[in-house]
Amino acid sequence: MANSIGESHATTIDPFIADTRIAYFSMEIALRPEIHTYSGGLGILAGDTARSSADLELPMVFVTLASREGYLRQEIDGKGRQVDHPDPWNPEKHAVPLPAMAAVQIEGRRVWIRPWLYVLTCPTEHRIPVILLDTDVAGNEARDRSITARLYGGDQVHRLMQEIVLGIGGERVLQALGFRISTFHLNEGHAALLTVSLLRQHRRASGYPGSAKLYDPDPVRDQCVFTTHTPVEAGHDQFEYALSERLLGDFIETETLKLFAGTERLNMTRLALNLSGYVNGVARRHAETTSRMFPGYRIRAVTNGVHVPTWTHLAFAELFQGIAPNWGHEPEILARADQLSDAEIWAAHTRAKGELLQVVNDRTGVSLDRDLPIIGFARRMTGYKRPELLFSDLDRLRTMAEDKPFQIILAGKAHPQDGGGKTAIEQIHRHLAQLAGSVAGVFLPNYDFALARHLICGVDVWLNTPVPPLEASGTSGMKAALNGVLNLSVLDGWWVEAWIEGVTGWAIGADGDQPDRHADALYEQLENKILPLYARNRPQWIWMMKESISKVGSQFTSQRMMRRYASEAYLR
Ligand SMILES: *Cc1c(COP(=O)(O)O)cnc(C)c1O
Repeated sequence: MANSIGESHATTIDPFIADTRIAYFSMEIALRPEIHTYSGGLGILAGDTARSSADLELPMVFVTLASREGYLRQEIDGKGRQVDHPDPWNPEKHAVPLPAMAAVQIEGRRVWIRPWLYVLTCPTEHRIPVILLDTDVAGNEARDRSITARLYGGDQVHRLMQEIVLGIGGERVLQALGFRISTFHLNEGHAALLTVSLLRQHRRASGYPGSAKLYDPDPVRDQCVFTTHTPVEAGHDQFEYALSERLLGDFIETETLKLFAGTERLNMTRLALNLSGYVNGVARRHAETTSRMFPGYRIRAVTNGVHVPTWTHLAFAELFQGIAPNWGHEPEILARADQLSDAEIWAAHTRAKGELLQVVNDRTGVSLDRDLPIIGFARRMTGYKRPELLFSDLDRLRTMAEDKPFQIILAGKAHPQDGGGKTAIEQIHRHLAQLAGSVAGVFLPNYDFALARHLICGVDVWLNTPVPPLEASGTSGMKAALNGVLNLSVLDGWWVEAWIEGVTGWAIGADGDQPDRHADALYEQLENKILPLYARNRPQWIWMMKESISKVGSQFTSQRMMRRYASEAYLR
């Protein structure tokens, strides 16, 4: 794997202060596999955002939580059940503590926040600072020291505390360090309290609590950019005002908060929507869905992308190097990947596949056949992603495999409180056992940054089965496409924009189909098109691989995404 993004130790924030104007706030960010400050897609996206910002030399600083206990290390027990473990990492190894500290008030207690500096360096040596907020500070009460310990851990109270540290604390830490920020980019609603911090800085002399006149929201809107990521109702953080009053005290009048965050409950999405001058969804389809959920706001679309050098297998990186040495910086040039020879493409794929099969063998003892096609599915294990859809009809799968054998690799974590997701993992293990002898398949435990880098390039078909319109964008299919792995997906999120049937991959069902049609549609595609094509017409398959790289891989990049944010959102 081409790992062009390194880290370098800087012991001071000073070199970054003068040139930085944009701050990107995210509850999670995947900086490198050893740093467990992410859970899944949102964090990987934030990491790719930071990597492209460094490539493009954007004047940015990134702010996140230290999450010393990580998110979740997944173990699978003998019965196919997920066992949850903390996933600690050691900030001392990768980052340096900065001397300046800031404090927030939570439930009347003063909670100190120690910022750690991690420096992300791009291949041209441009460096971007990442600030990790840590409440594990001597002097804080024990319960407060653990606020930033576990990502997405704990109850609603704990979550709101984390969001106070991120939004309010993060802004104060930047000030304490001497940053002068003109644009704040909120990656999802978790950091929305930042807007309230800014609002307090625009208090008017006249006006009374609960009146729209007490604060001037316009300068806050000028400063804030908000990217929303989920069309799932449960994905939008909401808190009782009784709780926010208890934790925030007199930080802001509840009447004022209600003006911007909704009358019933403190809705972080609504707060960010009302106080951001630029709002976007993460794919065209998602922006449309969000506009329907929140009528009256202008929601733009900036489709997500992936950091090309991070997600390109070394074998393909070598081929791309032959097309143009600047492919990492200007991945649009990969449009010319259709000129590569069939032999080169297949050899690179075979290398990536061989490495994945080695990983599978090392971790599970299972030997898969490199000459048979592999269907890959790795997702957060949760209801709307339908991880079990592929297993809807085991007999039909067996019949299919008699004629044209294939194999399956799955992976994915369920959030510790997602009972449905955990049950799905158990069921998948049962299905794999029932298919044994007909269809070889494995479930790889602990899907993370490192495992994703093997999976997305090592399988042949990348499967995606969300219930539309609940997949905001999805990015793993973009990583696959970049490595010539063909997408088979429901028409939702980013795939609506990238899909050309039989050219860049395949759709499951027609746009607007009822979700209960999808299992049948999925089987039809496998039976009639995909498995026969792999078995009988390899040149056509390889042609599709090239179309996938040149049409999809060249477009769905975080380089393109960040050029758009820079010109359209940051330079407003
Ligand atoms: C890319 C990635 C994701 C996001 O994938 P989706 O397509 O949004 O499901 C999640 N987890 C890891 C580890 C990834 O690398």
